[in-house]
Amino acid sequence: MRTLIKNGTVVTASDSYRAAVLIEDEKIIALESNPGADADEIIDASGKYIFPGAIDVHTHLDMPFCGTITADDFTTGTIAAAAGGTTCIIDYALQTPGETLQAALDVWHQRAEGKCAVDYSFHVAVTDLNDAVMAEIPALIKKGYPSFKVFMAHKGVFQIDDATLLKVLKQSGEAGGLVLVHAENGDVIDVLVKEMVAAGRTEPLYHALCHPPQAEEEAVNRFITMAEISGAPAYIVHLSDAGALGRVADARLQGLPVYAETCPQYLFLNIDRYSEPDFGGAKYVMSPPLREAGNEEYLWSGLASGNLQVVATDHCSFNFKGQKELGRHDFTKIPSGAPGLETRVQLLYAGGVNEGRISIHKFVDLVSTAPAKLFGLYPQKGSVTVGSDADLVIFDPEAAFTISQATQYQNVDHNPYEGFTGKGVPEKIFSRGRLIFDSGKYVGQVGHGRFQPRKPFTGL
Ligand SMILES: [Zn+2]
Repeated sequence: MRTLIKNGTVVTASDSYRAAVLIEDEKIIALESNPGADADEIIDASGKYIFPGAIDVHTHLDMPFCGTITADDFTTGTIAAAAGGTTCIIDYALQTPGETLQAALDVWHQRAEGKCAVDYSFHVAVTDLNDAVMAEIPALIKKGYPSFKVFMAHKGVFQIDDATLLKVLKQSGEAGGLVLVHAENGDVIDVLVKEMVAAGRTEPLYHALCHPPQAEEEAVNRFITMAEISGAPAYIVHLSDAGALGRVADARLQGLPVYAETCPQYLFLNIDRYSEPDFGGAKYVMSPPLREAGNEEYLWSGLASGNLQVVATDHCSFNFKGQKELGRHDFTKIPSGAPGLETRVQLLYAGGVNEGRISIHKFVDLVSTAPAKLFGLYPQKGSVTVGSDADLVIFDPEAAFTISQATQYQNVDHNPYEGFTGKGVPEKIFSRGRLIFDSGKYVGQVGHGRFQPRKPFTGL
């Protein structure tokens, strides 16, 4: 089966050029300036961009958390991803204390197998380190899992101490892995939460006030210090704060292999959201929390300057009704997380490219190419190149959109960006050569998505 996409403009992280893209089965086999017509199907992409499929390296689908389970599973989540132009996700398998890392992977593979609309892979979260788990780290890197997450927050649940952090960094770094961190000081947060609750301050806003930006900046700095001591590369997930960004920028100026992602919620929303009436602020309870107004522009500058290399979502959806409501009288019982898998690409294009904050090439890099390189998927993914997977987005830069829960594919009863408008819509989405989304309609097959083993870390 051959498909020819002609008359479009191919846009990569470095170039834009007119070319026809010839797909055979799952791969791009030619980029031609004068296309022949020997294809089974010809698609006219006049006036459209052709981007490499976007990659979301931070999702939580079908995840038990806070006594409930995320609203999106691997089917609804990956269909929503595809709707928004994302053709590969990396989710997190979380180790249960006392169990092996492989046991966690087995559970997550079972949750995803046969249920995905797009390709997927897994990071492994280390919550309980012992000698056997230490030995698993290099073995898992060889098996295609080269990224390990640790938590400096969530005291009493996932949080590890500094000794464990240093050991994981050393072990992973020596074997070609990358350590990802949730950088907030969990001890500080724990004290503040207890004080707040004891004082009867239980509304959603107090969640944010118990997670001060200094607690993030401190943890980012400590993580970078540990990474420097260990000689390992380091990656900070969901960086939310200007101060923390400053620490990353300093480390990079020194030449340290420190990388960081931010998420749309920190670029487009701020702390005012916690004051929405009727407990509406609960929809935005996440960690780190939304920050003060004005902080967003620092993060945009971080994207433009290259100090932040990735925009991912931390998609972790819980319904308002029946789930977020669990914490109506106590913010500590609100399941933490928000949806975003479907809207990341459009938001970043409209708010970034259209608003002149980042170039179109930087946009492609942030949502696709840099994630592919950092997480061992390049050039199979993250690129429009002969030999790459035909994961492609035909994007209409002139089409207008309005974000709404009523029209989304995400299986959750609200959307944090309800009513946001802009220009730029993913029109046709290809996953390994198969058309899976066409003008807003899912035309793919659940189960088409395949597990993607990844290569060891080599840098950007
Ligand atoms: Zn997360």
